[in-house]
Amino acid sequence: MDRVRTNRSGSRHGSRHTTVPSGDRHQKKDVEAALKRAEKAGLKVTRKQNGHRWGWVLCCPCKADHVVFCTPRNPGQGAQEIDQFTRRHTNCA
Ligand SMILES: [Zn+2]
Repeated sequence: MDRVRTNRSGSRHGSRHTTVPSGDRHQKKDVEAALKRAEKAGLKVTRKQNGHRWGWVLCCPCKADHVVFCTPRNPGQGAQEIDQFTRRHTNCA
């Protein structure tokens, strides 16, 4: 019984589980992690929710995009697809 609740704004150390989608985060943590890796690689992550679609990962130099879904049937696979896209386009950015 030693739960300390910190609520520092701007803190990226969120270890608690949230079911409420907030900000630009993807609700599936696997996918969110893959999106972070994509951003780090220089790709553009755009959130534009529309039905089942969460948004896109964009490679600006070659104009390729990869659709990200809100609730992939298999989040692990969804994340893998993003990783594949990232790897394919790391050299473009
Ligand atoms: Zn590319």
